[in-house]
Amino acid sequence: MYRDREMRGGVDRKRINEALDKHLEKTSSNSSTSRFLNSNKEKDKDRERLLIASTSAAGSKLSHVDNRSGASGANSKNKASEVAEESETDSEESDVSGSDEDDTSWISWFCNLRGNEFFCEVDDEYIQDDFNLCGLSSQVPYFDYALDLILDAESSHGDMFTEEQNELVESAAEMLYGLIHVRYILTTRGMSAMLEKYKNYDFGRCPRVYCCGQPCLPVGQSDIPRSSTVKIYCPKCEDIYYPRSKYQGNIDGAYFGTTFPHLFLMTYGHLKPQKAAQNYTPRVFGFKLHKP
Ligand SMILES: [Zn+2]
Repeated sequence: MYRDREMRGGVDRKRINEALDKHLEKTSSNSSTSRFLNSNKEKDKDRERLLIASTSAAGSKLSHVDNRSGASGANSKNKASEVAEESETDSEESDVSGSDEDDTSWISWFCNLRGNEFFCEVDDEYIQDDFNLCGLSSQVPYFDYALDLILDAESSHGDMFTEEQNELVESAAEMLYGLIHVRYILTTRGMSAMLEKYKNYDFGRCPRVYCCGQPCLPVGQSDIPRSSTVKIYCPKCEDIYYPRSKYQGNIDGAYFGTTFPHLFLMTYGHLKPQKAAQNYTPRVFGFKLHKP
């Protein structure tokens, strides 16, 4: 069951890993993650994520560490204790950064990842209300840990989880956030958060020439997770398109849902544009084509 989820979560994690890789390149290419930990004492939340991911050997830059440990049994034993150490250090770092001036939450971090531009930041209060999470605990593995991660709550799971499990918690948190997000954006507060993003053209513009750069809204073709990726809906030509960025194109459509853009335009009726009047006419040597 977990293996299945892991595979399906692969696409999403690739995105996270890419963001992590970027940070890795920025810092240094230390071969040992613990050395990395010790030599960098900055309390950067992003880096914490990176540490979580490197603990779980998700970062491709660190894959050689993996390979090395896979090569011999003794090494993999070392690796295991290394991981335990790292997890401890990691949670210590979390403690410190909690009182640090840098208060980037998991949610802000997540929404600022490349490709996650369509997500708005869900209010903590909304997530803390159990009523809003009704039914999600059966859909998301490691629900409690994933929720702790999203809310930046202290959790000791790092000490007892294997790297594989840590990876799963990361990807479960992403899924849980998505499933909370799809509910949140249908609420008044969520919709107004999305309105700000819409005004900012965060969802992109319609690629159709005669839509004249009409801003679009995110939409899913299904409300069932892992069915299809997110698309953008143009209110002018009333059609859907692939997002411009391939990173955005990897996001699950169920994290936005089939209802959102239409309820949004009903709520903010003044934003609904006139239907596109102009259509493209194919011509050969200036003559319209004869339609049989
Ligand atoms: Zn359009």
